[in-house]
Amino acid sequence: MNILVLIKQVPESQATRMDESTGTLVREAANSVINPLDLHALECALILREQSAATVNIDCLSMGPLAAVSVLKEAIALGADQGYLLSDRKFAGSDTWCTAKTLAAAIAKIGSYDLILCGERATDGETGQTGPALAAMLDLPVLTYASAIKRSADAWQVRRMLEDGYETVETTGPAVVCILKEASVPRLPTLAGKRRARAAECRIINAEELGIDPADTGLNASPTRVVSIFRPNHLKQSERLSALDPAGAEQAVDKIIAIFRQKGVL
Ligand SMILES: Cc1cc2nc3c(=O)[nH]c(=O)nc-3n(C[C@H](O)[C@H](O)[C@H](O)COP(=O)(O)OP(=O)(O)OC[C@H]3O[C@@H](n4cnc5c(N)ncnc54)[C@H](O)[C@@H]3O)c2cc1C
Repeated sequence: MNILVLIKQVPESQATRMDESTGTLVREAANSVINPLDLHALECALILREQSAATVNIDCLSMGPLAAVSVLKEAIALGADQGYLLSDRKFAGSDTWCTAKTLAAAIAKIGSYDLILCGERATDGETGQTGPALAAMLDLPVLTYASAIKRSADAWQVRRMLEDGYETVETTGPAVVCILKEASVPRLPTLAGKRRARAAECRIINAEELGIDPADTGLNASPTRVVSIFRPNHLKQSERLSALDPAGAEQAVDKIIAIFRQKGVL
């Protein structure tokens, strides 16, 4: 059985730099980590492997700058078998549609998978569109908001989190499943895993090798543009009321009621 986990490299902290002319992240400048939800997706794959009597191969695929090899190696340290990185200036600035298209082209090239796991969303772009778009492009079923996944007979059984509860659905055959934080608790890498990762060679695939038309990928091929980026101004006005004794408390309550009336809340 073959499982593919999609791994996005995201900036570690808020200390990120944006290219305001293109509305994209300067990914090379940021200290990057595995998108946190992708760690949960990888953990689900590792658990499925541990629960399976069959041999389960786990590959990881990422699209990003060359530095993204580090997140693939981190995934290998955690137990993944092989890492693939799509890296080329021609891919830069892809929106979710182009990203999904490029990932789909890569999946068609590198292997056939019984299950494709991704995070429900990435912490930088945060659209949650890549998994469903990829499934549509690969003509596969997609199960979103997965809070648990297991193999039952020949089907993938997925518990989905809804607004008012859970539902459990099953699908046979290959599928794309978008994993929530609730689905697993990521493990820590072992020393042996770290050694294996250090020695591992991730396969880097450029646009030419992928055979994707440059007109179909990257910023210029992306129908979605981030037209402006700004930091919201948080204007906080505050007034401290002290209520150290019953009289003070009464005054404070009167003042709060007056403020609420002034603002039209009461
Ligand atoms: C601030 C900001 C705003 C953006 N807004 C938009 C927008 O509104 N519309 C738009 O189309 N694009 C937008 N983008 C671009 C978007 O980040 C990229 O297209 C990105 O590759 C995928 O989108 P996402 O980050 O929303 O990922 P999501 O769709 O939230 O990611 C879900 C999962 O898909 C997988 N995945 C996503 N990207 C990759 C990757 N490169 N490699 C491997 N796996 C991956 C991961 O498993 C991830 O957990 C924005 C980018 C930034 C930085």
